[in-house]
Amino acid sequence: MFKRILIANRGEIALRIIRCCEEMGIETVVVYSTEDRDSLPVITATKAVCIGPAKSTESYLNQDRILEAAKLTDCDAIHTGYGFLSENADFARKCEENEIKFIGPSHEIISGMGNKQNARELMIKNHVNVVPGSDGLVNSPEEAEIVAERLGFPVLIKASAGGGGKGMRRAFSKDEVKEAYNSAKAETLAAFGNGDMYIEKLILNPHHIEFQILADEYGNIIYLGERDCSIQKNNQKLLEETPAWALTEELRKEMGEQAILAAKACGYTNAGTVEFVLDDDNHFYFIEMNTRVQVEHPVTEMVTGIDIVKEQIKIASGMKLTYTQEDIERKGHAIECRINAQTPGTVKFLHFPAGFGVRVESYLYTGCKVSPVYDSMIAKIIVTGNTRLEAIKRMRRALKELVIEGVKTNAEYMLYLTYNREFINGKYDTSFYERNNQEIVKLIAVEQS
Ligand code: ADP
Repeated sequence: MFKRILIANRGEIALRIIRCCEEMGIETVVVYSTEDRDSLPVITATKAVCIGPAKSTESYLNQDRILEAAKLTDCDAIHTGYGFLSENADFARKCEENEIKFIGPSHEIISGMGNKQNARELMIKNHVNVVPGSDGLVNSPEEAEIVAERLGFPVLIKASAGGGGKGMRRAFSKDEVKEAYNSAKAETLAAFGNGDMYIEKLILNPHHIEFQILADEYGNIIYLGERDCSIQKNNQKLLEETPAWALTEELRKEMGEQAILAAKACGYTNAGTVEFVLDDDNHFYFIEMNTRVQVEHPVTEMVTGIDIVKEQIKIASGMKLTYTQEDIERKGHAIECRINAQTPGTVKFLHFPAGFGVRVESYLYTGCKVSPVYDSMIAKIIVTGNTRLEAIKRMRRALKELVIEGVKTNAEYMLYLTYNREFINGKYDTSFYERNNQEIVKLIAVEQS
């Protein structure tokens, strides 16, 4: 087992990893920017090393500085959390070259899955369902028109290097294709320096269903069930839950087995997430594989009792999985709400919900600073219940208890979302936000007047 792990991240996920290491008897070194000098991860890690100014490119994305810090402090492994360098194949390769274990899959797998067209082709070869689409890359707007007409409208024009909703445009008819192609390509070139494009059929109002998998370095792969992440605002997830109401036990097994097939196709190791879109007729399609821990991993932990970060560390240290697929039991229902800051500032007063079935992941404390420089997510409220209804009621109770003074947050919005009829019914899809946002906002206004 590792003696000392460097954490190349900040905020709640850095803290999440520190807590896990503490329980495992592993020392932690957290790197930080001057902006995060007084942050909870810096205070709680065994050691903290300042690696640069606020700007991420000079600190949390500064590969050389981070590697240097790891060598100076004698770390034998690096955990990158999510975001920042977590899906950076170059960084994973440099870790390997420096004989520091990158806690995640190999750099070859990260780069293979990071290129979506590449991943798509590999999945087709290995009999994983993918969305019907172009054979390989589409090299011009004219070719895009031909391919789109062959597939039938609507289509989604996607960048191979795209991510975070960037480099993706819909086209509902032939005259929209050129413009969609050109603007998606320009966006992806500017953001990722790669203009490779492909086309998929646009699945109308699908469910976003993802499967958590664990794979050790000896070929053992299991899935820990699904998460429904269909409630998204501009492709940013707001609420995630498990189990997904859209899945029957039969469909869950079928999708889980496809997730394992996808992981096997690329020789995957460590924790990963296979993302699918699911349509109303229960057809499901692979869209991409995330080669890191996800923000929403706690909901899976709460129903399986498995600490995913601990598993990541154990797998990276060369240990075998201690569970088989048959050992995985899921109990009850779990929901996560992401609490985002709408204004930066200093937290003047803080009270987190607690009590039966409530878990909070957050870096906040009274007096701490919410920086405008980084991601706006400041807390995750996770609840469990024996049933979905119990979990919903518990989430309402938890959100009512939550007090964050000094920064504006979306906590009230999330509370009212849990009273939305479509959400309560559970039969929502990725168009939920668009369809219900106004009603939720109106409800808040009425309550406040
Ligand atoms: P990103 O890396 O930007 O998150 P994804 O490929 O995961 O890109 O797609 C983001 C979101 O877009 C998904 O969560 C899903 O809701 C939607 N999406 C992706 N592909 C399709 C498709 N072919 N049809 C409909 N929706 C899609």
